[in-house]
Amino acid sequence: MSFAVLSDIHANLEALEAVLEAAFRRGVDKWFCLGDIVGYGADPAPCVERTRAAAAQVVLGNHDAAVAERTDSRTLNPYARAAVEWTTANLGALDLEYLHGLPLSASVPAGLLVHADPRQPAAWNYITGAASAAGALASIKARCCWIGHTHQPGLWSVPDQDTARVAAQSWPPTGEGTVPLPAGQRHLINPGSVGQPRDGDPRGCFVVSDDEATELEFIRVAYDVASAQRKIREAGLPELLADRLGYGR
Ligand code: ZN
Repeated sequence: MSFAVLSDIHANLEALEAVLEAAFRRGVDKWFCLGDIVGYGADPAPCVERTRAAAAQVVLGNHDAAVAERTDSRTLNPYARAAVEWTTANLGALDLEYLHGLPLSASVPAGLLVHADPRQPAAWNYITGAASAAGALASIKARCCWIGHTHQPGLWSVPDQDTARVAAQSWPPTGEGTVPLPAGQRHLINPGSVGQPRDGDPRGCFVVSDDEATELEFIRVAYDVASAQRKIREAGLPELLADRLGYGR
């Protein structure tokens, strides 16, 4: 069974549709979502509905939590907070209830799914380097732990027998391509962001793997950025949220 892992869709329907089309073209049997279905973009309801109907497993992101009033949105930056308030007003009761009910983490045959740091999922800490990755890797029992939240693709690996060793960090330098997942190691995998990439490449990003998980494929997909930007502007959301989609930051 092959699967796709998507994270940080952020209400960008154009990106979600392009990524799912690319995933199914590759013959994936199912897909998982690591949270932040909503926030920033102008299509929260279609993104929630598509995810709710089709994803095999979904976990809660910090924006989903803020929209569903599970966490205090005052901790977010002003742009994110404006988007949270707009999103809450633009989702129906069923969609809000769905976001409210999402788990902080989930175990599937592919590994542990969580939006942020698996050590404390609700603290929403970012894993950005070897030190935080090593701590997270030492805390997990699963061979693979899938995380999002930074909107940057990444892979950190550590030997099973030596989890104190600082994790090696590697991924295709271009943000796309296939990387091996050696046996005898634990892996922390960030598939990047579908709807608001921040690694300088505006294309949507996701990962495909299979149950054996001997390798990962990081995939980038071009989508109609101009259409997503236009909807953000028309919705009256902060201009910056439209602009940043164009340069992937
Ligand atoms: Zn996010």
